[in-house]
Amino acid sequence: MASRGVSIDEDLESARHDYEALVRQGVSLDLTRGKLDPLQLDLSGDLLALPGDRYLSADGVDCRNYGGPPQGLRELREIFSGLLQVPVDQLVASGNSSLELMHDCVVHALLGTVPGAKGRWVDEERVAFLCPVPGYDRHFSLTERFGIEMISVPMTPEGPDMDMVERLVAADAGIKGIWCVPKYSNPDGTCYSDETVRRLAAMPAAAPDFRIFWDNAYAAHHLTDDEIEIADVLAACADAGHPDRAFVFGSTSKVTWAGAGVAFFGSSAANVSWLLGHSAKRSIGPDKVNQLRHALFLRDAEGVRAQMRRQRELLAPKFEAVDRILTERLGGTGLATWSAPKGGYFIALNVPDGCAREVVRRAAEAGIALTKAGATHPYGDDPRDRTIRIAPSYPGLAELEQAIEGLAVCVRLVGHERELA
Ligand code: PLP
Repeated sequence: MASRGVSIDEDLESARHDYEALVRQGVSLDLTRGKLDPLQLDLSGDLLALPGDRYLSADGVDCRNYGGPPQGLRELREIFSGLLQVPVDQLVASGNSSLELMHDCVVHALLGTVPGAKGRWVDEERVAFLCPVPGYDRHFSLTERFGIEMISVPMTPEGPDMDMVERLVAADAGIKGIWCVPKYSNPDGTCYSDETVRRLAAMPAAAPDFRIFWDNAYAAHHLTDDEIEIADVLAACADAGHPDRAFVFGSTSKVTWAGAGVAFFGSSAANVSWLLGHSAKRSIGPDKVNQLRHALFLRDAEGVRAQMRRQRELLAPKFEAVDRILTERLGGTGLATWSAPKGGYFIALNVPDGCAREVVRRAAEAGIALTKAGATHPYGDDPRDRTIRIAPSYPGLAELEQAIEGLAVCVRLVGHERELA
């Protein structure tokens, strides 16, 4: 399809011209990762001076020493309990990365025995995870690293295709888990509907030890006034008679500092003691000073919300800029569709089938680094080769605009070349 009354030939010609100009500019721009802009990191600058000369937690634990509650500091867990929809006694505050906790849960399930399991996953003939696509590349590389088979399930506007999930999980005892980013999902910003959460919690599973890996990485990360709330998965699982089904993960990586935050795990009492039992073998305990520093800085749940409003002020204009430029340059061309997330860190750009890799290659040649095409799918293989993940958070606004202008040129070039091939 040609855009706005211009023939495809003419549009291709002008895209070639624009691309040559882009290459001549010699830009060096990076849209690969959901890193925080230094201005966002500065919002938490007070952390550098905290906890000051204080080292006792509210309940008198000397945070400098060994010991203290293996679940992490209670005052910090109290702050995040409501935001992550996990009762405070079932919430663990841990190290700085929730991905690490997901990794540990997989490893302990492989080498230990999760509540309800007949044995270790590693002794099973086959272990598979459902992977809603497009999804988060690090979930997929973690699963792949342990030889766990990945089965793609398409996303719908309400979450994973639940008819397919229910059918697969009911029939196949080898399916032990599903990756879920239930709110403002990476990369397309999907939020799971209440009905999706209910069905995930209630569906019959052939594997008695089936687990939902509920990665609520963007629980408080709104970009608009329409602050989405999702259903409480732990409560839904308990109500459905599957109290041990969900592992909930979250972190302050995109609340305070991505490299020095606090990660959380929440689940049933049985799962929490299972994880803590194994964690006690691998660690003497979490960094309690960092937990204290975070509790003092954030103060309470309202403190987190206020912090996230400040983050939104910096982030929302970037998401708006991406949407505006894509609309101006690609709207009505038939060459692209993209998500308009109400929160989170990413935008999913869909180009014509068979074009994503070539768009990413051309962009790289022009100095614009994008996440590898295919990264949004298990094994790095997007069968339609069409989804590109855009991470707008790190570059400054002017650089971001330049990068998206350049990306739009690459989409026009590759899209029209394909149309005329
Ligand atoms: N989960 C999702 C869905 C993410 O997008 C990211 C980072 O981009 C993470 C987890 C990483 O979290 P953490 O920094 O707590 O390991």
